[in-house]
Amino acid sequence: GSSSLLPPEARRLEGKVALITGGASGIGASTARLFSKNGAKVVIADLQDEMGHSLCKELNPECTTFVHCDVTKETDVENAVNCAVSTYGKLDIMFNNAGIIGVKKTSILDNTQDDFEQVIKVNLLGPFLGTKHAARVMIPARKGCIINTASICSVIGGALSHGYTSAKHGVHGLVKNTAVELGKYGIRVNCVSPYVVPTPAAADIFEPDANGVPPTIYSNLKGKNVTPEDIADAALFLASDDSKYVSGHNLLVDGGYTAL
Ligand code: NAD
Repeated sequence: GSSSLLPPEARRLEGKVALITGGASGIGASTARLFSKNGAKVVIADLQDEMGHSLCKELNPECTTFVHCDVTKETDVENAVNCAVSTYGKLDIMFNNAGIIGVKKTSILDNTQDDFEQVIKVNLLGPFLGTKHAARVMIPARKGCIINTASICSVIGGALSHGYTSAKHGVHGLVKNTAVELGKYGIRVNCVSPYVVPTPAAADIFEPDANGVPPTIYSNLKGKNVTPEDIADAALFLASDDSKYVSGHNLLVDGGYTAL
């Protein structure tokens, strides 16, 4: 299985148990691969059952479990956390990563309450519920690490929908609140904020031109698109002891885009 690809001394999550929401696709799937390669047991929680199960098969099925979970439903999130504990004995790393983009670039005059509410539910209520139920099992253990996927839309506006920008700004607010509250239990809480990444969620942005050439959407770091693996690397840093004194932080992986 892929969890044995690295020698034990190089595995940065050896013996750890991680739960990844939105783990069946894109950034979550890349992170599941990287965490697994680094020795973690991984629970993938997602709406997409088939993709989740096939990723478990691709990784080491003995060290990887899929659980169906809608992050907007508290009982589902509670169940996913309980699944990690009952399958692998504990939960060390919670990655609240599931997200949707919603209707893009709509004027506020045309945007709907339904779209706004749905994006807020998945992208902000989801991390709230994930943090709550992770903390429920991490507080008694007196350790743990919670990571959320925010976005460059956590610090800038204008790029996508109103709900998206509001939710992603909110994610860092939630991170700050819970980092302060949970620090005394040895629990760190952070977020990772990607630039535009080629995943199914952003597929339209990466549509090839008439000659079949996909666009380069690099920020101000010229020459190369950011990849899902680049975001997984940042999540691994936040999940591992390499970041043992980092909490309440928003780690932008944007090639300096928001620094302009
Ligand atoms: P993706 O569509 O490939 O993956 C998202 C996953 O979340 C999917 O597997 C989907 O089934 C799952 N999901 C959606 N709603 C869910 C729900 N209610 N409950 C459980 N799972 C649900 O997209 P991605 O780009 O990998 O997105 C992952 C995260 O990265 C999201 O939070 C997104 O906002 C964020 N992000 C993406 C980009 C980008 O350009 N792709 C940029 C910045 C931030």
